[in-house]
Amino acid sequence: MQQLSAAEIRERFQRFFEARGHTRVPPAPLLARDDPTLLFTNSGMVQFKRVLTGEERRDYKRAVDAQPCLRVAGKHNDFEEVGRTPRHQTLFEMLGNWSFGDYFKREAIHWAWEFLTVELGIPGERIAATTYLDDEEARSIWRDEIGLPPERMATYGNIALGDDHNFWSMGETGPSGPCSELHYDRGAELSEGPECIPDHSETCPRWLEIWNLVFMQFDRSADGTLTPLPFPSVDTGMGLERIASAVQTVDSNYRTDLFTPIIDRLAAHLGHDPQDVESERFSYQVVADHSRAMTFLIGEGLSPSNEGPGYVLRRITRRAVRHLRLMGIREPVLAETCATVIEVMGGAYPYLVERRDEILAAVEAEERKFGRTLEAGSERLASLVEAAGANGTLSGEDAYRLHDTFGFPIDLTVEIAGERGVEVDRAGFEAAMSEQRERSRGTRAGKFAPAAGLEGLPSEFIGYPNETSADGLPVLFAAEAGGSAQVVLERTPFYAEGGGQIGDRGELVGERGRLVVEDTQRVGDAIVHIGQLEGTLAAGDTITARVDEDRRWGAARNHTATHLLHRALRDVLGEQAKQAGSWVGPDGLRFDFPADTATPREALREVERRVNGQIRRNAAVTPTEMSLAEAQAIGADMFFGEKYAPERVRVMRVDGYSAELCGGTHVAATGQIGSFRITSEGSIGTGLRRIEAVSGTAADELVASRLESLHTASQLLGAPEDQVPTRIEALQARLREAEKGGARAGGPRLDAAAALAGGQVAGETKVIVERYPDADGAALRGLADDLRAATGRFVAVIAGERGGPSILVAASRDLVGEGFDAAAIVREVAPLIGGGGGGRAELAQAGGKDPGGLDQALREGARLALEALQRIENG
Ligand code: ATP
Ligand code: MG
Repeated sequence: MQQLSAAEIRERFQRFFEARGHTRVPPAPLLARDDPTLLFTNSGMVQFKRVLTGEERRDYKRAVDAQPCLRVAGKHNDFEEVGRTPRHQTLFEMLGNWSFGDYFKREAIHWAWEFLTVELGIPGERIAATTYLDDEEARSIWRDEIGLPPERMATYGNIALGDDHNFWSMGETGPSGPCSELHYDRGAELSEGPECIPDHSETCPRWLEIWNLVFMQFDRSADGTLTPLPFPSVDTGMGLERIASAVQTVDSNYRTDLFTPIIDRLAAHLGHDPQDVESERFSYQVVADHSRAMTFLIGEGLSPSNEGPGYVLRRITRRAVRHLRLMGIREPVLAETCATVIEVMGGAYPYLVERRDEILAAVEAEERKFGRTLEAGSERLASLVEAAGANGTLSGEDAYRLHDTFGFPIDLTVEIAGERGVEVDRAGFEAAMSEQRERSRGTRAGKFAPAAGLEGLPSEFIGYPNETSADGLPVLFAAEAGGSAQVVLERTPFYAEGGGQIGDRGELVGERGRLVVEDTQRVGDAIVHIGQLEGTLAAGDTITARVDEDRRWGAARNHTATHLLHRALRDVLGEQAKQAGSWVGPDGLRFDFPADTATPREALREVERRVNGQIRRNAAVTPTEMSLAEAQAIGADMFFGEKYAPERVRVMRVDGYSAELCGGTHVAATGQIGSFRITSEGSIGTGLRRIEAVSGTAADELVASRLESLHTASQLLGAPEDQVPTRIEALQARLREAEKGGARAGGPRLDAAAALAGGQVAGETKVIVERYPDADGAALRGLADDLRAATGRFVAVIAGERGGPSILVAASRDLVGEGFDAAAIVREVAPLIGGGGGGRAELAQAGGKDPGGLDQALREGARLALEALQRIENG
């Protein structure tokens, strides 16, 4: 077998099938935005689903690709496996070749065999194939054409009996069909008994499923019915990490070159030696896997949130942080492991490199946030777990409270409790969750219990346009309920919460008592003033009402601003950006609208400019009562957040700009809003975004305080305000450099400039021959890298003594192109230090046991290098 890197395997696979008439197709995004049945791409076929069903045509019939997949939700979910098994990750790459109504089983099987045994050189006797029960066609190809002996073939599965071995489907519905799986035999000595056979091999180390050849024949509907597809197709999926583990002859995906750099980086951070790594392997694997998933997801623009895909990302990050804590790491480190992921994967996925800074910043922010959460919640959880006792149960209520107040994800609670033998009542948790959802949907129903007798009372709102006080108002009803007084007036200037606008506060003053109004709510037709009563108020009294004026004006400004925002947003983003919910308070507003992706900053600035333009125009804001039909005729926007009398509606018009059905209170002219600033934009769940904004004095104060921060930053940096960003960038770059230096294990960083200064020149080549008593092999490699970055044509023969004698020979690529071979020299001199070694023509290294021979090895290495140089110079 050849030694191949995973990157080479990925490339060779695609070339192999390109040479056989396949078109190389770029991978689909991990976020399955266009597929309502999936959160994430979980196999190669997701992007070809419509091609397989015949709904879509492409200009090729054969395709090859390498598709990142994420299996963390739905039918294919390996989240819990990660860390525990050597062969599962959440994120993995699937190499696939495809036929859309072109070739079928014969070619698929022959090419798979050829790729494995010829291209990768895997011995044929290491491969076993399984087939589906009644798929005699596939079986005879393996048996008669490939010549696979019977002991390496097996038949499983019967979909009619509910056994889906060797019957593949992407999800509950969609394309599906019988398959033939290829299993790699790691060696009979690893067998764990008669159960250890291909395909039942998930827990047995001997057999490893590497490749699944799916023969797509059916479209599966929700009730399990299989309808033949318009044409049969081939869909294959080979896990890159698994095939790399076979080719690199290691016993785990996590020991391939896709993972070792990540694990090494973490070990360096922790100061772990290989034995420490082994004893913490579970946590190492979780962190390495999750770092990859995070990097890819954030690289696609996803941010952690509390719903939908963003929540999955949050769970992944949090599980990684939790395992870091288990290993004793308290400070953020995921940005380092994710940086390594980008180094390993950036070649194949350049967008990771492009978005490096964003990815690392987002990872670190989430890690810090969760660090605080953990600190706050861990104690609480520990005492709950203790109270439950071993083999006890933690109630769903408690688990929900941890989630609600401390942001403890339920998986984490389950995992931590499980470590102490405590179970968590998950059903109870789910019940508490959905109860909460109900509560937040019904407006404040949980908070406000209407007194008996309220229902059916009529009261009239006299607060338009912005009346805030009135006297001589008769009291219709007064009662105590739920710890507060509730009063209904015949007429009132108090606005009851509705249409997104908050309820008013203020006071009702009578001759015998006063109600401090904390909230105003509507129950049927009654406007209910809720608050604390001093003295008495009773039906029949006449009172004076005073609304908290500043608060009302704040709400009015923000309400009109919301209408302007709604119009401007649709003008900039398109009509689909329709209001899906809003909240209008005295100090700010929130506005929700459907969108799958973040709103570009430029668009937000444009919306802000337009709203402020309307404010400066000082357009009149006027309500008109009209029939619903009339409102429709003038094209008023209708958003029914509350009930309107259907025949008469109130339309709020901003002269020359917008018209919207609305029962709220507004300013009289847009100029009164003063100014408007968007403060944030983010996801609040699948397909929904939220804008938060401020207006009036709140907007002025925001700008003033931001300018103040900028001023402070500029003083700290000693740079003018407009140069603050460039200065910070420069500082970050320096910091990264310094960290890189610090992370390098094995003694001091060797100085490349000094090495060059102390070197010699032979013709046009710089020659460095040096012995560094403090350096180990890693430090020598670091110096070789630095030399390569710092100079052109060079040869280095360098030796170190730390941790045993080591010697390294390196040369620039041009010299290698002319025939220089560092590996040959190292092979020659390694025996002088009692060791062995090797490498590539441009960099080779050996370590040994005999420090006494180091000087001679260095001299001999230098002599051989100069000889080689001379040969090259003399042509
Ligand atoms: P297993 O039974 O081992 O979980 P599977 O039957 O779920 O595998 P398929 O859905 O057939 O796998 O996917 C095709 C290939 O993708 C597999 O043969 C394997 O090489 C790889 N693969 C599947 N799941 C994972 C995973 N979680 N991590 C790494 N590779 C995977
Ligand atoms: Mg699986």
